[in-house]
Amino acid sequence: MFTVELRFYEELNDFLARDRRKRAYSFSFAERRSVKDLIESQGVPHTEVDLILANGESVGFEYIVRDGDRISVYPRFESFDIGRVSRLGRPPLRQCRFIADVHLGKLVRRLRLLGFDCLYNPRWGDAELAARSAVEKRILLTRDRGLLKRAVVSHGVFLHSDAAAEQLKEVLRRLDLTGRVRPLARCLKCNGDLKPVAEEVVRDRVPARTLRYIHRYLECDQCGKVYWKGTHWSRLRRIIREALSPSGSDADSPPRS
Ligand SMILES: [Zn+2]
Repeated sequence: MFTVELRFYEELNDFLARDRRKRAYSFSFAERRSVKDLIESQGVPHTEVDLILANGESVGFEYIVRDGDRISVYPRFESFDIGRVSRLGRPPLRQCRFIADVHLGKLVRRLRLLGFDCLYNPRWGDAELAARSAVEKRILLTRDRGLLKRAVVSHGVFLHSDAAAEQLKEVLRRLDLTGRVRPLARCLKCNGDLKPVAEEVVRDRVPARTLRYIHRYLECDQCGKVYWKGTHWSRLRRIIREALSPSGSDADSPPRS
């Protein structure tokens, strides 16, 4: 029998049973196991963990837990001096590209609006989402912690909110993406790239009234949909502004743990 003391920090507490939140608690188990397995058995997906300390020393997911260990588990951006310890060393993906779970259609449109590459198909099941995330090196966005626990998934973000506007902020904050926003770069409908196109080429796909006022157009290189800064543009600009503003989020509030 092994007995350890566990303590989870910050938003990792959201995954725990109520009586285990924001405090150290004792946990016993019979079989030898890795710390990754132990953490996931508490309900916390490995993708959400950035730093593990066993008796004050940083350890990797493969660390085999010993009887009496004191284990502390931190998410990203925990305000904690980590000068002497090392994070889990998950190599960052070279490009920040996403794949989103089936219930996140609204978030997907917002990410594309900000120019981020985000695959989405409401017909994809968990196995396909996980496999595509691994093969195409895409960050998996989901509210399903079981999906993030799949071993094949290396990069994922669990969305704590169920509102699209707040989910967008969670993604931007967690991955520090506010400097990489490129509005009007991606098709909201199919995720294709938008390229400038001559007015003459799109003339028959744009209302005559619009042609009188607007002379710059973009075309999706995959589905051919035409975009311009028309009447919807002010609404879209507001969504972008809200996503990038720090207010209304809990970014400024004191640490919750
Ligand atoms: Zn398109």
